[in-house]
Amino acid sequence: MLMSHRRRFFHISALLVAAGLSLQAAREIRPGFNLFSKDQDIQLGRESAQQVEKQVQVVHNQPDLENYVSQLGAKLAKVSAAPEYPYTFKIVAEKGINAFALPGGPIYIHATTIAAAGNEAQLAGVLAHEISHVALRHSTNQVSKAYAWQIPLALAGAMTGGSLVGQLAQIGIGLGVNSVMLKYSRDAEHDADILGARTMAAAGYDPVEMARFFEKLETQGGGQPGIQFLSDHPNPGNRVKYVSEEVKSLPPRQYTQGIPDFGRYKSAAARIPVHEARRDYQDQSSQNHPHPEFPSSEFREFRGAGFRLSYPANWQPYGKQNDPSVTIAPKQGLVQHSRGAVQIGMGAIAGFFSPDTHNLTAATDELVQDLRSKNPDLRPVRGQRHSVTVDGSNGESILLVGTSPLGNQRELDSLLTVTRPEGLFYLILIAPENDYNSVRPTFVQMQHSVRFR
Ligand SMILES: [Zn+2]
Repeated sequence: MLMSHRRRFFHISALLVAAGLSLQAAREIRPGFNLFSKDQDIQLGRESAQQVEKQVQVVHNQPDLENYVSQLGAKLAKVSAAPEYPYTFKIVAEKGINAFALPGGPIYIHATTIAAAGNEAQLAGVLAHEISHVALRHSTNQVSKAYAWQIPLALAGAMTGGSLVGQLAQIGIGLGVNSVMLKYSRDAEHDADILGARTMAAAGYDPVEMARFFEKLETQGGGQPGIQFLSDHPNPGNRVKYVSEEVKSLPPRQYTQGIPDFGRYKSAAARIPVHEARRDYQDQSSQNHPHPEFPSSEFREFRGAGFRLSYPANWQPYGKQNDPSVTIAPKQGLVQHSRGAVQIGMGAIAGFFSPDTHNLTAATDELVQDLRSKNPDLRPVRGQRHSVTVDGSNGESILLVGTSPLGNQRELDSLLTVTRPEGLFYLILIAPENDYNSVRPTFVQMQHSVRFR
């Protein structure tokens, strides 16, 4: 059953977290589940680089600085966990402190990030972190997990001559700078930090400088618009602590903070005029609306009439105990429109629907029709409807795609339905497409927590 696939992914990532907490010495960090080959990573990276370079402005008039960054990157890549990829390192003149890696090697760093680094080791840290995302194949791992059932079809299409980017676009995977490929989970961030720390150490740089730099950006950024390091690389927490612990497990050696005249490159980078970011999360509506709080790992229980379920402790239930329905969302997950209507951009709705039929599939269809009457562009994602068992009762799980009220982007809704004496129980989990991978483990946990009385 397909639900058991989801369960398996969840357990694997839960185990990784547990392992990360309990093991200190040289834990083996390897690429996770992946339906792509390494060559397909490289092909996908090349194709998406073309798309990305139409969206961002790559710096071409600073040969000194460009060479410096390329050489620093190459030096790190050579001693990294996966030196076999064709890495490239380019500077982009976009607003915000950021860096990102495409599958198979293309790495981009914002000029502002270079200008913000305190020394060469900190810049090396960002590059080593990005190299590690490539080495661990996080982009295609994310896509493989999120679109497991459609990927083989897309790969088959690409093998018969189509472009990989084109095939993935057909099943709804956008590439370019807003791609799901660039939205990493906190587990992925943690692993990229650890592997990045090892790469830095191998090149002679003090790995703690990477963690320090990230934490500095974190406190300076504080979620402000324009500081986008947070959105592409969610903070796994305690970076300095776990990187310091990792360093203890490495062979002792003399570390350097890098070249003494780093300031020369830093000021050259600071002089590059930056663009207003063209990424669509910078558009009007998302600029006015703060990003919803990501779910905490701590859970609470909501007991409704006839059902109970767990929800992230930092989200708020809008409903009383024993109510037949509840909305649970982070404060910023609710979007109020000028005419007063409230929409959920991130969060959950659970309750009972009264269908005209007792047949699970027909009742679920009726609910989907009802949702579509309120959200006309909502539609089921092809191939993403499965039978599931919830607390001993038969249910269905459906993935829907629509338009997010949080700015100019799509949203994914994971709908769970179960036939119950009270009617059709439903749990709808909603997130913007760009955040879906980050919140998906929480959603799976919420779905598994559903109990009926
Ligand atoms: Zn990262």
